[in-house]
Amino acid sequence: MTELTQDYFEQLDRQDPLAPLREQFVLPEGTLYFNGNSLGAMPRAMTRRLMDFTEQEWGHEIVRGWVTQGWYGLPQRIGAKIAGLIGAAEDEVIVSDTTSVNIYKLALAALQLKPGRTGIVTTQDIFPTDIYILEGVQSTLPGKVELSLTDADAVLQAVDQQTALVVLSPVNYKSGALYDMAQMTTQIQAQGALVLWDLSHSCGAHLVDLNGIGADFAVGCGYKFLNGGPGAPAYLYVAKRWQQQIQQPLTGWKGHANPFAMSPHYIPAEGITRMLCGTHPVVAMTCLEVAVDLFAGADMAQVQAKSRRMGELFITLAEQCCAAYGLELLSPKDSTQRGSQVSFSHHSGYALVQALIGRQVICDFRAPDVVRFGITPLYQKYQDIWQTVTILHEILATEQWRNYPAAPTATVT
Ligand SMILES: *Cc1c(COP(=O)(O)O)cnc(C)c1O
Repeated sequence: MTELTQDYFEQLDRQDPLAPLREQFVLPEGTLYFNGNSLGAMPRAMTRRLMDFTEQEWGHEIVRGWVTQGWYGLPQRIGAKIAGLIGAAEDEVIVSDTTSVNIYKLALAALQLKPGRTGIVTTQDIFPTDIYILEGVQSTLPGKVELSLTDADAVLQAVDQQTALVVLSPVNYKSGALYDMAQMTTQIQAQGALVLWDLSHSCGAHLVDLNGIGADFAVGCGYKFLNGGPGAPAYLYVAKRWQQQIQQPLTGWKGHANPFAMSPHYIPAEGITRMLCGTHPVVAMTCLEVAVDLFAGADMAQVQAKSRRMGELFITLAEQCCAAYGLELLSPKDSTQRGSQVSFSHHSGYALVQALIGRQVICDFRAPDVVRFGITPLYQKYQDIWQTVTILHEILATEQWRNYPAAPTATVT
């Protein structure tokens, strides 16, 4: 194996085909940013775009902007661009609402598409909002929905002829472990159930091929690997074969066949547009589009390859120099089994993360003891890994983490 030296990391940066993209992002000087899986960095073009938006679009066109500036079509237009990142056709993806709201719409739609079936299956370790929303689906239809929470490796055993929908995230947000999306989809559909993939930790980070695997539905958020900004709008995918029949519960006017007819009854629009509810946030969508456009310069296969390589290097270095201090790898070691993050457990994980943040290494803590480093190949350098593990080692070897509180005091960790 090549010896891991600082020179080697610098050499990898010189050879990196994605290196020019880093210049397209703003990152504070000296910060080592490993939290792009929570909030992506800001694209450099954002400031200029927002100035143009206020001066030339909103400030000049006012209400005419819906037509003259193309605001009206933003959900479909950005949806089509995101489709290219997840193996979907352009008219199968639309940007709308939040991931949570989109799960609600699709879960109720799935129950309606599978009359007679009452089961929804998801995993205990999925991102909590997914579970909370499914509990909300249960209370919307009292006594009519059975929700099963399973262990990650017991999903298929929980799926039967009563199951209408299975909700899964390809990536475990704590450990980074990946599902085989193709295999899970096929086996769930073999029971006659539908699958909803939550791509929040996948889109923009690794290869996803929704149509290749015959997926039914997907959702995902715009602010993590897509870099759309804090609270950026989310997106959803409905496979073409369901678009004629699907009915969603939030039947707002923007999903109507003819919103401006102002008719007293709801008639769903054709295609994916019926998944919209109310008027979309144009400013937030403008930001999201700037960010999504940066992916035009990135080949997703290269993004995935760099993510895997960075993860491998992080793990190898950390195991070489930090294992003696109680840091244990939680993520799968095999990079084909791992999403774009590396997680460790440590008995004083919270304090350790605070100590890292004190040294400008921005990573995060997830209860009970998980130290999580998100990997974002668009704007990270290989050298960031070298520097971060060097700092991590120093903090562990000198027990600097003892200077920090042992348990969370802030609301956001
Ligand atoms: C981040 C994340 C969400 C966030 O949902 P919001 O409605 O945007 O708050 C949902 N699901 C998963 C899997 C996530 O990682």
